[in-house]
Amino acid sequence: MTDKPSRLSTTIDFAAEGKQCDFVRIPHSVHRSAYGWLPMPICCIKNGDGPTVLLTSGTHGDEYEGQVALTRLIREVEPDHIKGRLIISPMTNYPSAKAGLRTSPIDDLNLNRVYPGDPDGTVTLAIAHYVETVLMEMSDYVMDLHSGGSSLMYLASSIVPIGDGGADYQKRLELAGAFGAPISFVMPGGAATGTSSSGAARKGLIGIGTEMGGSGTVTPDCLAICEDGVRRALGHLGVLTQGIPDAPATPSRILRAPDFTYYAYASEDGLYEPLVELGDEVEAGQPAALIHYPETPWREPAQVNFEQAGLVVCKRIPGRTERGDCLFHLGRDVDPNSLE
Ligand SMILES: [Zn+2]
Repeated sequence: MTDKPSRLSTTIDFAAEGKQCDFVRIPHSVHRSAYGWLPMPICCIKNGDGPTVLLTSGTHGDEYEGQVALTRLIREVEPDHIKGRLIISPMTNYPSAKAGLRTSPIDDLNLNRVYPGDPDGTVTLAIAHYVETVLMEMSDYVMDLHSGGSSLMYLASSIVPIGDGGADYQKRLELAGAFGAPISFVMPGGAATGTSSSGAARKGLIGIGTEMGGSGTVTPDCLAICEDGVRRALGHLGVLTQGIPDAPATPSRILRAPDFTYYAYASEDGLYEPLVELGDEVEAGQPAALIHYPETPWREPAQVNFEQAGLVVCKRIPGRTERGDCLFHLGRDVDPNSLE
């Protein structure tokens, strides 16, 4: 990774006390705007000594629960509600969030696959580099809020990277426990993934993520879980001192998908008929979906089966599907300590 500084800049003084809201300026010289920049909104709230928590959403622009939660948080939280510092970025991949797309309409890149980014690269690469080398650099904790986006719907879950399974993993589990989503999904993580969690690991941050609903919309239930979860997690870290939900977190069901046999993929191009619903418990070998061929309706549909038993935590939303699309994924109950 290069030591070159980011070309992105902001008027915000992250060391200053108080609440500042402005933009990160992403240089973007194009036909309609020769010296222009893209305005990625950001807020810094600081009150005395304490940990710094980076809150991000809009890493994927079609995932809306986190963007609503952080937009509201920016309006509601004042410096005397906290101890330490909050850095809040609701539209982290700004061009994709503005377009409501998973990937950037400028360079087609997926921000959550390109960390650590590149200061001289395209817009998405430059954003990843800025988040890792500037925002994560000054943070102790990070919560990157995702959901299923346009193509998937999730049962509301927090995502806990396992990493090396050591002391930081225990802190991540505790943070997810405070967040209190109905499900906590433990995932391998790792530096090679290009995800924001790989950046967090390189910078030594304690970080968790979420998968809150999806379907290209916002549901009141998932949004409430997300908003209460963020506030409870910030309370757990001692950063939020007011406005923490009274109700304690209910214990999460802890799940894992050890490998891709827990995912069901479309075997053909066609029109997909789900045979199970989110929240169903399924058996190994159970039919997951039929793929129909309306263009040649006399053909028998293809059947996709689950290879493993588990809880259906994620489901594809659009009916039209292509070979290789994820239709479902399962989670298996796991002891978070032994991972068995
Ligand atoms: Zn996402």
